[in-house]
Amino acid sequence: ADDMPSHILVPAIHRNRSEIRDIFLARMGDAPPDLSDVPRELAMAARAHLRRKFLSAKVAVSGANFAVADTGTLAVVESEGNGRMCLTLPETLVTVMGIEKLVPTFDDLEVFLQLLPRSSTGERMNPYTSMWSGVTPGDGPQEFHLVLLDNGRTDVLADEVGRSALHCIRCSACLNVCPVYERVGGHAYGSVYPGPIGAILTPQLTASTGGVSGHHDPNASLPYASTLCGACYEVCPVKIDIPSILVDLRAREVDADRSSRGVDPWKTAMKAASWVMADGDRFALAGRAATLGSGLGGRDHAISVAPPPASAWTKARDLPAPPRQTFRQWWQAEHENEEGAR
Ligand code: SF4
Repeated sequence: ADDMPSHILVPAIHRNRSEIRDIFLARMGDAPPDLSDVPRELAMAARAHLRRKFLSAKVAVSGANFAVADTGTLAVVESEGNGRMCLTLPETLVTVMGIEKLVPTFDDLEVFLQLLPRSSTGERMNPYTSMWSGVTPGDGPQEFHLVLLDNGRTDVLADEVGRSALHCIRCSACLNVCPVYERVGGHAYGSVYPGPIGAILTPQLTASTGGVSGHHDPNASLPYASTLCGACYEVCPVKIDIPSILVDLRAREVDADRSSRGVDPWKTAMKAASWVMADGDRFALAGRAATLGSGLGGRDHAISVAPPPASAWTKARDLPAPPRQTFRQWWQAEHENEEGAR
């Protein structure tokens, strides 16, 4: 569906089953035309479609959950068997892996293979664990390439506070307990790493790669997407102190803000809001002006598409439509009614 993942473990969790059926019918030429939205039927249709693809693919590209330094072994854990097919059927396998996935020995791998499923799906062991150490003649892909991805990770490692974010094993436990993630959903984080881990990892990775750096990095505001309730720290199996890193990253953002020059749209908007809110009459006028937009929302009173600059918000989230009546108007009407009743 040309969509972004919204969760580390269940990337399409923002789609319901009738949406999935519609996507299958639109994008899978071999989907049965009378496909229902019963999960079993959807799974059967996807299975038939993907199996044909796996059997004809010459090259596969995979990720990896872990790699073992002393044996050169890579490991992928998954639940559906699609990973296993990708890793075994094509002639050539290319694996792209972040450098932080490396553990020293096979004994260390044993620990993580227990930690990951318990914290992600609540299982004692995941259904499929595939491990491979290069090429085996006559069995599986006959050509193998490993791409070790740095992409800012070495800089994060050099940071004494932020580096523990690299311990993350992507179990998603912190997402599932986060009250902010629960309300805003994964797309609001604008990255493949949503939730609390995304709020500490994404700004560090993008700041260090210099793609969007310093104050103008939109990801620099991600550490504010937290109530600092600490639920993420409590559930994290590798004990990443996410709240402390969030506070540290906020402090850096404030420092960067102090030393920044030039026009920052966010700061300008806040200054304008402050000017409006500093005067009762101005605030009342702005409130009345906002009610003019009350008809813009759909049936759920939410605006999904807005022109710039509000589009920066509606790209990932709905904007609540302004109410028909301001609080002051409601208050006045209520008091008039009360006085009339007296
Ligand atoms: S930060 Fe911890 S809880 Fe969150 S995904 Fe990573 S390992 Fe799991």
